[in-house]
Amino acid sequence: MSREESQKKKVFDAEAASFLMKELRGNVGSGTTRSYEWRVSQMKALLKLMDENEDHIVDALRSDLDKPPLETVVYEVGMLRNSCEVVLKELKHWMMPEKVKTAIATFPSSAEIVPEPLGVVLVISAWNYPFLLSLDPVVGAIAAGNAVVLKPSEISPATSSLLAKLLEKYMDNSFIRVVEGEVDETTALLQQKWDKIFYTGNGRVGRIVMTAAAKHLTPVVLELGGKSPVVVDSNVNLQVTARRIISGKWGLNNGQACISPDYVITTKNYAPKLVDALKTELENSYGKSPLESKDLSRIVNSNHFARLTKLLDDAKVSGKIVYGGEKDESKLRIAPTLLLDVPRDSLIMGEEIFGPLLPIITVNKLEESIDVINSGTKPLAAYLFTTDNKFKEQFVKTVSAGGMLVNDTALHLVVHTLPFGGVGDSGTGAYHGKFSFDAFTHKKAVLYRSFMGDASIRYPPYTNTKLRL
Ligand code: NAD
Repeated sequence: MSREESQKKKVFDAEAASFLMKELRGNVGSGTTRSYEWRVSQMKALLKLMDENEDHIVDALRSDLDKPPLETVVYEVGMLRNSCEVVLKELKHWMMPEKVKTAIATFPSSAEIVPEPLGVVLVISAWNYPFLLSLDPVVGAIAAGNAVVLKPSEISPATSSLLAKLLEKYMDNSFIRVVEGEVDETTALLQQKWDKIFYTGNGRVGRIVMTAAAKHLTPVVLELGGKSPVVVDSNVNLQVTARRIISGKWGLNNGQACISPDYVITTKNYAPKLVDALKTELENSYGKSPLESKDLSRIVNSNHFARLTKLLDDAKVSGKIVYGGEKDESKLRIAPTLLLDVPRDSLIMGEEIFGPLLPIITVNKLEESIDVINSGTKPLAAYLFTTDNKFKEQFVKTVSAGGMLVNDTALHLVVHTLPFGGVGDSGTGAYHGKFSFDAFTHKKAVLYRSFMGDASIRYPPYTNTKLRL
């Protein structure tokens, strides 16, 4: 069966997946992807893809999420462009073997760590940043010299089909492919023996991916989510704090982002002031009728709308909503909503919210926030607003999270010298910048010896004289 025939097949089944894998393994055997030139050519092709198709990408994101164009241009296209440019600038250096010291026992010798491509890798991505989250790991896979299959999310269908079309047109299809599909297609892909699987999404599917990978001893990167807390001290610049919380929460896909603030912890005394500041800044940002705002994404689909409605209804019954709460099912829109004094055992505190609702938990002393966070599963991000250096140090030392940011939200994501990934339930492995290259690279240990220094002590017979040496 030719590639065209296999692509024309309606269902991408296990047979098609096996065929694809065989073809890519054969192609990778040519060694083409190992060359610096091939990797660079594909980075440039990706940049060209973005230069020539920004409008189409913006349209696809509008269709999938009603994502504001500025958010698409900055967070989806802009960040990917940045990733490609970092690779173009640094790749030569990353690909160089690293000389390391040797041991006295190997004298004379030299040693180096040689970065080596893993082979053929699979990237499974999520719907909330469907362009960036699909292609950013692909950038790492290509930079490291691998062939790669991308499976975008079916929940963002416009972006998924655009990715399939654009990657076919711009990239080297002997090594880079897109398979669109849902659970069946992903299951077929997961049955293959990959050299690495990079998955972005929820922890339930993360477990499915890890189980499938275990069958073949395939290593995984799991970019998962969790409840990312924001702790607010009473000594902060309140207006800046409120604006930065809003930017990381509603300014990132209306709360549908893995690192968006999930809940706030502050003291009982300070909470009313924080709520007032958030209300003022929310109104400045999205006006008096936020359901009509063009600057807020919609909820991705009716399933997620129903899930969030359940959390909203529960909060309404318990009288915890202090701002917002409006929704429009016909347009899949939910307004930015603040909930105050939410009990820690309430429905909304039991799961990652992944939407525009922001509960505020109050404590008597801010130090208690550390126990609140550490009593739950480890979050993907933890945010702290404070001017108290002692508390800052204590927070950084004792709170475990994938990443941490003091006096802002979400921005740690754009620093390519920082690894981006979770810990515990929020994921395993990391990427961005050099960490992306490393995620798809085997570091091969190589020791070089000559025929000199052939100490007889290591060879039998093991005489008593040798023992005494
Ligand atoms: P999703 O529904 O798009 O699923 C992710 C991928 O898993 C999709 O490609 C989908 O086809 C596949 N999938 C779904 N069910 C499957 C199954 N049974 N078997 C095999 N594959 C299957 O996305 P999602 O999970 O709703 O994404 C939201 C979650 O992802 C949140 O928890 C969020 O925090 C997390 N997330 C993490 C990051 C990160 O970088 N750490 C980024 C974005 C989202």
